Amino acid sequence: MAKQIEPVKIAVVGGSGISEISGFDNVTEVNIETPFGKPSAAITVGTIDNVRVAFLPRHGKGHTILPSEINNRANIYALKSLGVEQIISLTAVGSLQQNIKPKDFVIPEQVFDKTKNRVNTFFGNGIVAHVGFADPFCNELRDIIHKCVTELAIEHHFSDTTYLCIEGPQFSTRAESKIHQKNGFSVVGMTIVPEAKLAREAEICYANIALVTDYDVQKHGEEVAVEKVMEVMDAISTACKKLIKILIPRIAVREGKCQCRHALENAVQTSKEEVTKAPAYKDLSLLLKKYYE
Ligand SMILES: [Zn+2]
Repeated sequence: MAKQIEPVKIAVVGGSGISEISGFDNVTEVNIETPFGKPSAAITVGTIDNVRVAFLPRHGKGHTILPSEINNRANIYALKSLGVEQIISLTAVGSLQQNIKPKDFVIPEQVFDKTKNRVNTFFGNGIVAHVGFADPFCNELRDIIHKCVTELAIEHHFSDTTYLCIEGPQFSTRAESKIHQKNGFSVVGMTIVPEAKLAREAEICYANIALVTDYDVQKHGEEVAVEKVMEVMDAISTACKKLIKILIPRIAVREGKCQCRHALENAVQTSKEEVTKAPAYKDLSLLLKKYYE
């Protein structure tokens, strides 16, 4: 545990092509062990305009972890143990709609989960909880991101946007992609589930910025490939860094009156006496103690 560290309230979780972040001052690295194992990498803690920020590359340093292999529970628990209250998640995605072009930024409003093989909850082992997930992202955070991308004149998509999360690691077939397009999903990626679900269980505000790198397999001759994804990511990382720089100080002064911070208040179904006796309680007290101690 990182008990000696001064709390960090904001974290950025980076995805493909964003394995480090520049523009941080006073950088240190924190290695955290959690009851769920180790996070994807040491967490970089630094400051942007005097605001303390943590950065975690979800695929590990040097991109060594498959989407299905990410230890999301360790990642979110580690950030929670640092004191994180808000997460900005960055992901590379493919477009499922003609009007969403490579290099555009999407701030998804909804998520559609088609993952199959992932541990997607902190609960179980004696404690049953069902958090609300109708609005999977923090709309207060989304609004601030929206203002920032508008000011920076970054092409973006905000309302009625859905991130489809597939298991991967293969990209979609043409048949799958056709159905995804027909269903009206905006972008396809492999990583924000269960990250967003666990953030909600940990009562951390969470919003995603989906960076469009390709048209998935919509267009013959332009099918998504790793090489193309990385090329486009290089091109948009400058805009992404500018966005982070203006975004962090603004979310730092947000009051945080949203429901995300109380997600567990009425979510635990297990009786009070059973919760504190449950084998899971020790590992989950970081999340539950405000209601039970
Ligand atoms: Zn929130």
